[in-house]
Amino acid sequence: MTTRTHTLGFPRMGANRELKFALEKHWRGEIDRTALEAVSEELRARHWQAQRDAGLDFVTVGDFAYYDHVANHIQLLGCEPARFNFFGDEPELSRYFKMARGVEDEIPDAGHVHDESCKHGTEGTFALEMTKWFDTNYHYLVPEFNAATQFRLASTRLFDEVAQAQQAGHAVKAVLLGPLSFLYLGKEKEAGFDRFSLLDALLPVYEQVLTRLKQQGVEWVQIDEPILGLDLPDAWRNAFERAYWQLARSAPKLLLATYFSPLSDNLRLACQLPVAGLHVDAVRSPQELTGVADWLPAHKVLSVGIVDGRNIWRTDPDAALAVLRPVVDKNRGELWIAPSCSLLHVPFSLAAETKLDAELKSWLAFAVEKLDELRVLRAVLDGGEASVANELKTARAAVAARRSSPRVHRADVALRLARSVVGDDARTSVFPQRQSVQRTRFALPALPTTTIGSFPQTSDIRAARASFKRGELDAAGYREKMRAEIALAVRKQEELGIDVLVHGEAERNDMVEYFGEQLDGFAFTANGWVQSYGSRCVKPPVIFGDVARPAPMTVEWTAYAQSLTKLPMKGMLTGPVTILQWSFVRDDQPRATTCEQIAWAIRDEVVDLEGAGIGIIQIDEPAIREGLPLRRAGWPAYLKSATRAFRISASGVRDETQIHTHMCYSEFNDILPEIAAMDADVITIETSRSDMELLRGFGGENNSGGFRYPNEIGPGVYDIHSPRVPSVDEIVRLMRKAAVVVPHENLWINPDCGLKTRGWPETEAALSNMVTAAKLLRKEL
Ligand code: GLN
Ligand code: ZN
Repeated sequence: MTTRTHTLGFPRMGANRELKFALEKHWRGEIDRTALEAVSEELRARHWQAQRDAGLDFVTVGDFAYYDHVANHIQLLGCEPARFNFFGDEPELSRYFKMARGVEDEIPDAGHVHDESCKHGTEGTFALEMTKWFDTNYHYLVPEFNAATQFRLASTRLFDEVAQAQQAGHAVKAVLLGPLSFLYLGKEKEAGFDRFSLLDALLPVYEQVLTRLKQQGVEWVQIDEPILGLDLPDAWRNAFERAYWQLARSAPKLLLATYFSPLSDNLRLACQLPVAGLHVDAVRSPQELTGVADWLPAHKVLSVGIVDGRNIWRTDPDAALAVLRPVVDKNRGELWIAPSCSLLHVPFSLAAETKLDAELKSWLAFAVEKLDELRVLRAVLDGGEASVANELKTARAAVAARRSSPRVHRADVALRLARSVVGDDARTSVFPQRQSVQRTRFALPALPTTTIGSFPQTSDIRAARASFKRGELDAAGYREKMRAEIALAVRKQEELGIDVLVHGEAERNDMVEYFGEQLDGFAFTANGWVQSYGSRCVKPPVIFGDVARPAPMTVEWTAYAQSLTKLPMKGMLTGPVTILQWSFVRDDQPRATTCEQIAWAIRDEVVDLEGAGIGIIQIDEPAIREGLPLRRAGWPAYLKSATRAFRISASGVRDETQIHTHMCYSEFNDILPEIAAMDADVITIETSRSDMELLRGFGGENNSGGFRYPNEIGPGVYDIHSPRVPSVDEIVRLMRKAAVVVPHENLWINPDCGLKTRGWPETEAALSNMVTAAKLLRKEL
């Protein structure tokens, strides 16, 4: 029996982000729907052709989306939320974009009361909520459910795309998000309602979709149930069998696809469902493959995700074959091989890479190259090794070179980690002692005011950076320009009466890229874009080697800022966990090791800042929560290494140096003791959107065990995502609420997050109200 190859999905944006640019033109009204559709049709055609060229047995249809594939399912299954009030004949795509983006001219105006219903705009027309797709940096649109939700087959988009592929002569495998995952990933919009109760109404519509695909002559449908990699409530787990028996009645052959996370307690269930095949992620969970091969009945196809769909490294053919061989030797039934998950999460192709040197490039594989890796692996498995001898030789040489390269492995970095001793991750004294020396040193007023780091990145600043990068503005000119911006930010903060200043981050393009560019072990691609949400793409740095800091990164800017004022200037760094989380990470050593290397590099910077007279240093860790493994079983190990990495970065300084950290909006209640274990002297968090509810956990309410956060806290008093200026009253009200939960001696006053996306006028107005509120509140003490 020969091996078959396929992919779970392919990047949508196009080799040169054609979809992004077409979408944005369409939204600006520069091209009409027909023109946008033509672009999308062309992209699908090209992407299927790429799959065909790599010899895949099927092209995958249904992975394309103008914004997001979950949103496609909302339309396919006819469950657009009623609150959008779409008129009868409003075109499908126009409804789609309204759900994805909201209705713009109804954004709330200044002075609008802040409550739960208006956080994204006027009731009824704010966009669907967006949230992270499992542990990726891709965001999906969250389906909304309530008791009145109904389903019906309401879109022909999928069937039209299938027809398009068939007309081009391709063998089609259609892909759907499975019913359990679709429901699970949605959210109830009604108190007391359980979306699980909608399953029975949903299944018949899936049956209709599958029947229709069968009528179109589709032999295989890949049905994604990634929630099988989560710790599922019993009711959900138990529903799989019943649901799939029902679907099996009408369906073409179903390939149930799982990815990202171990199946663990769902392994036998996944193997026994009444489907024709099962896909598993052998990159994330190679240890489960034998179990799957044993449990999966021999008449079912086993699809092994062997090429890493989440990372950019060239596959080691021998390592991959070593994983696959035992499965082949079992001779258990038909074997397919594929990337571990959809290739949505990797860039398009190395062909466009101009910035990377040839050696580094030879270590990588993007989506197009990954398809080709499948071709080579299959040839070997099927006894055709000779036909791919050249490809194998090249791959082996690249893998061997990377394994032994001095660019990757540095003795000094290894030695530093090896030499680290107990206590390297602890401050000299415990918090109460540090707090007292810091109080004496800084003599700040009660409820000190500060900001989170960045000030408006004006078009002027961005233009200067662009012209510096193009070589039109020289280094001295750029430095002058940035110094002027820093001086401006310092002057404005002094005029506003803020207590702890920041330099404003004018010189930074991005909080991770800025540091990556100055650290050894990082590389940057020219075109390595990955979709984040809608038309937004990110270009994550590539951490390829041992990380070290060759020279100070921020000291000169910060010291300059400090020289302009007598008030304390807060140094501003990005933490190791966040740098790791927002990069492509090495696969040849544990993530925790890379994280620790970054931590030591940041520690060097912290120590140098202290040496330059900077008394307060903030180490941002907004990504700490999103790094949590999908399975709870993995949480303790992650949290232990993440908090240790932070502490390593923060613990090289004296007691009187005050360390801050900052985290953005997320639930912290279930990991509060670990956040406290980071032992920052001050933590600033985003709380205004939850009306300070988030803070209650820090005070010991709403969290398991009644744990009270011991150190100082700056709960954000206004949302920085909109230009709305918070009133003095509103800030006073929020801080009074905060003071009920946290002793006022431990409270700071600051915005939710950095102000880089804002303009100066609203920033000054908001901060002025913030300072006024602080003064009013101090009188009450
Ligand atoms: N210091 C950063 C800023 O102010 C923090 C950004 C973030 O938390 N995402 O922009
Ligand atoms: Zn933030």
